[in-house]
Amino acid sequence: MSAITQSEPTSAQVAVPSNVVIHVEDVHKYYELGETRVHALRGVSLEIRRGEFVAVMGASGSGKSTFMNLLGCLDKASTGRYFLDGVAVSTLSKQELAAIRNRKIGFVFQGFNLLARTTSLENVELPTLYAKLERSERLKRAQSSLELVGLGDRLDHFPSQLSGGQQQRVAIARALVNSPAILLADEPTGNLDSRTSVEIMQIFQELNDKGLTIVLVTHEQDISQFAKRVIVFRDGKIRKDQVVENRPRAAEVIKNIPAVDED
Ligand code: ADP
Ligand code: MG
Repeated sequence: MSAITQSEPTSAQVAVPSNVVIHVEDVHKYYELGETRVHALRGVSLEIRRGEFVAVMGASGSGKSTFMNLLGCLDKASTGRYFLDGVAVSTLSKQELAAIRNRKIGFVFQGFNLLARTTSLENVELPTLYAKLERSERLKRAQSSLELVGLGDRLDHFPSQLSGGQQQRVAIARALVNSPAILLADEPTGNLDSRTSVEIMQIFQELNDKGLTIVLVTHEQDISQFAKRVIVFRDGKIRKDQVVENRPRAAEVIKNIPAVDED
């Protein structure tokens, strides 16, 4: 697999300022469904710089997931341009797309998507299998990734032995194990109670404090306020793009939410 790294620039690389992780220019996305054509994104332009923490909001069907799938190189725009960390994604082949996805993107989904008969450590190790590393090095990385989300003491647990919040933390560790340029999370708190949701936001804020760029989709106003910037989609377009004033620290908010019996 041809890994795309900063030290090996490809012809697709262009001069986007190095602090810009995401540069999207007039992107449209059409889905063809038999006779019908759904125009899911209708001219989206956006820049996200390194170290930002962006919440994406909008009603169901407004194009949030379509947009995240494009950002995450899971799908391609119908027209328009997208540069990820300086690489022109729109010109890449399927294989190159898979390589850049593995190297530069960490994903977290609503449903955790962990392998059931696989320990936390092995779940987190999975994305490192593509890198040509010694097993001991891979396990070391997986372990420190789990320590980063506070699960250093749950390495040998299976998903069924973990609470929902813990499973989501394993998924976050898995997303971070290859040191991605950006973490993308589509409704990561959608299956969690409110206290656990704020715990996940605490982890996101701490990771963002360390410099990680995060884009998070949520339909919950409260959750969006933990980000630094909120973007609102409507009918496939960005309708609002605002800085969050006086954003709360999740670590403080959590003190006022009663604990639920989880473990
Ligand atoms: P959101 O995540 O904001 O709920 P989506 O991005 O999932 O919105 O959907 C945007 C629009 O595109 C909707 O009208 C949806 O029905 C349509 N859509 C999404 N995915 C597909 C697909 N794979 N095929 C056809 N239409 C799709
Ligand atoms: Mg969605």
